Order: sequence, then structure tokens, then C-alpha cells
Amino acid sequence: MARPGLRIVEPEAFAAAALEAFLEGVSGGRRRPVVGLATGNTPLPLYAALRASPDGRAALARLQPFAIDEYGGPAAHPCSNRSFFRTHWDVVAGATPVEQFDPGCPDRDAEAARLAASLAAAGGLDLVVLGIGLNGHLAFNEPGSARESVTRVVSLTSVTMESARSCWGDATPTWGFTLGLAELLAAHRVLLLANGPAKAQIVARALSGPVSPLCPASFLQGH
Ligand code: PGA
Repeated sequence: MARPGLRIVEPEAFAAAALEAFLEGVSGGRRRPVVGLATGNTPLPLYAALRASPDGRAALARLQPFAIDEYGGPAAHPCSNRSFFRTHWDVVAGATPVEQFDPGCPDRDAEAARLAASLAAAGGLDLVVLGIGLNGHLAFNEPGSARESVTRVVSLTSVTMESARSCWGDATPTWGFTLGLAELLAAHRVLLLANGPAKAQIVARALSGPVSPLCPASFLQGH
């Protein structure tokens, strides 16, 4: 079993450890590294640490950031990923705007293809920041997603919708856009973040369980 770079820290050290790993992940490569960015609760301490650190703020200006997923709900909804990046990313002066899926587009498949083409034109991901869903999803690659799956429109599982309900309530979307496992796993570096006891079991399964589409995060064992 491969556990490259597994790092376990106390909760109060999470933000600093995530910041260090992020800055390391975007160093030494291309002049304008392409990064995939997760939303949700998990990366909040990382984004706060990036905003608070001079090195972090400088990094935000030279990156080419892409959202890794988006909910199929109104783009302007406060729980959309667009709103998330407005609050947690765009507030840094000079931060490069995050390239994102548009859930209000007239043709969803064309929109997924547009973002995939844009990411490919940028040369693919240098670093991707990921959270892990309680069901082992990466971005919105839900259980059952193939290792070769590409950027696409997906149906959300009940587990994902239940998590989303805490923010979206009755307006919880049933679908979303996601970068595929193929694009995520092609990243030169992956920073998977997880915190809190609720994630312990799925993290253990992803790191030590069978590599299977039933737990998409398990594919990271081969990264
Ligand atoms: P969370 O979501 O950070 O809000 O727990 C993680 C995920 O679903 O990927």
C-alpha cells in the first residue's frame, strides 16, 4: 500500500500544514502553475491561511486556478461554488479569477466540454486540492466513477445531497459538473485534505482499502 506524503496533524496545526503543502505543491514547476481547487468546509483553513500569508497572496496572483466542480443550482446562490470563490478567493487583491463551470448555461454537456478543453489548453493540472466526500467521492466523481472518467455532468448521490442540504436546504441540487478522475489523477501533485472524526473511516478506506470505483478516492493509492 502506497501512502506518499501522509501527514497527520492536530486540528490547530491543520491550516499551517495545508498551507505548507500547497506552497510546496506550486513551487519549482511552471511559472504559472495550474491548480484545481476544492470548495466545501475542508479547505477553508487553507484558503484563510493563503490570504493571511504574504507568500500565499503572492501565489494567488501567479496561479491559473480552476474549480474542480460545481453544483447544478443557480450560480448566484450563496451555496454555489461560484459564491464560495467570491468569498474565499477573489477577496485577495490581484488573485487570478477561478475558471469555473456555469450552471446556468443552455447546454450542460457543451459547458463540461468547454471547461475540459480550457484545462487541457492550459496544460492540465500541476496541483489539485481535494477534499473527500463521506462516500469517498473526489470532486463530484461519485462511487461508481471509472478511473478513466472525464469532465462531465453527473447526478449527485443521496450522501452528497445530504451533506449539501446543510447549506442548500430544500434547494439542494440533484446534479453537478465535475472534472473527471482522469483529469484529477493526471495532476502532478495531489493535496487531499481531510479533517474531523467523521472523515476518519473513509480516509482509512481510501488509503488502505481495495482500489475500486466504489471508493473513487482509493485511486489515489496509485498516484
Ligand atoms: P466537505 O466536503 O469539505 O464540506 O466535507 C468534502 C467533499 O465532499 O469533497
